[in-house]
Amino acid sequence: MMNGLFDQDLLIFDREHIWHPYTSMIGPLPVYPVASAKGVRITLEDGRELIDGMSSWWAAIHGYNHPELNNAAHQQIDRMSHVMFGGLTHQPAVELASLLIELSPEPLQKVFFCDSGSVSVEVAIKMAIQYWSTMGQQDKQRLLTVRSGYHGDTFGAMSVCDPVNGMHQIFRDILPLQYFADAPMCGYHDEWDDKDIRSLEDLLKARHRNIAAIILEPVVQGAGGMRFYSPQYLRRVKKLSEKYDVLLILDEIATGFGRTGSMFACEKAEISPDIMCVGKALTGGYMSLAATLTTERVSDGISSDGTGVFMHGPTFMANPLACSIAIASIKLLLSTPWQERVDRIESQMIKDLSPCMKFPWVNDVRVLGAIGVVELNQPVDMASIQKKFVDKGVWIRPFGNLVYTMPAYIINKEDLTQLTTSMVQIIEVKGQV
Ligand SMILES: *Cc1c(COP(=O)(O)O)cnc(C)c1O
Repeated sequence: MMNGLFDQDLLIFDREHIWHPYTSMIGPLPVYPVASAKGVRITLEDGRELIDGMSSWWAAIHGYNHPELNNAAHQQIDRMSHVMFGGLTHQPAVELASLLIELSPEPLQKVFFCDSGSVSVEVAIKMAIQYWSTMGQQDKQRLLTVRSGYHGDTFGAMSVCDPVNGMHQIFRDILPLQYFADAPMCGYHDEWDDKDIRSLEDLLKARHRNIAAIILEPVVQGAGGMRFYSPQYLRRVKKLSEKYDVLLILDEIATGFGRTGSMFACEKAEISPDIMCVGKALTGGYMSLAATLTTERVSDGISSDGTGVFMHGPTFMANPLACSIAIASIKLLLSTPWQERVDRIESQMIKDLSPCMKFPWVNDVRVLGAIGVVELNQPVDMASIQKKFVDKGVWIRPFGNLVYTMPAYIINKEDLTQLTTSMVQIIEVKGQV
């Protein structure tokens, strides 16, 4: 039925039977059929080419269809695409773990591979709780986080997403109750104000006996609002976590592998977490793979009482195909001037997007590393704005009142200009957004 051209029938079948992220099955917004993708270009089935401004949600940092990543995939698939990880191991897992340990802050020495970002957050939460449990502190079962966060869509992860724009209301009787401090208000470049940490400090002071860990996205809050906050906030959180004997989990799933201009965003605060989650760009956007890294202190704690096995083990744990591509992606990143590229993207986006500030319906324009955000004072009309971007030959996918881009690091000046120009031209006409 569905061979050959991507015709109208396929779109109709898709519309009637397939869920897309965060969509309704009744009258869903249109989707665009993709034939192929290469570099920063997505080719639609009707032949149109779009310059990709999303990196497939932070992931495709080298662009699509990269020969070195393709080669890694081909090589590995001819050896084995998967083998169970219970009782077996393989070179791709070992090499990837050693790369991650080398790249990440020094105290992180133990790696747990999982299949997606959300699962790596679940694993991080379980590690923190199990750690305190084996240490005889069974009351430390809750998490402390800040508002406007996003950590994934599974239950544990959802419980620490922003309680307002997250899904807390629908699932309120089953979601674990966590502690929410106010979101940091000091922007990335703002002068630090001690008031910013008070809400979190007060909660910690009052509740630390019940708190296993603080969980945060370091410096950049992604899907919860695309907010950038002061590294000083993180430094203070780190100190407080030590003072009040709670673990610190940093969710680097969006920020990891160079997106903010540092390999990991926590480097901007010169701190290291007790547990760190990575995902998204780990395989350069090729496959779903994530990892939860932790310290010897935490892993020893969990394993100390004899029965102390860590209670998690996904079927596709450390999938060799995904690990091989991740190794190739990290090596590729390290062999390229990624930092200069991200800096160049940052400078150009600051220059190109700042004209948006003069439109009265724009609240804020902010850029950090290869992330450019225009925040409007009301939600965009998704159906119409999406089509306008496609008509301009770019792939930008706004959400809520945010029009933002995080292109592949390899994007050149002209293509980035087309992205930013399209953003400005669409935002500038009030009726259009
Ligand atoms: C995307 C994201 C997740 C969830 O990752 P999935 O692979 O979609 O499950 C968790 N935390 C952050 C910060 C993310 O950006």
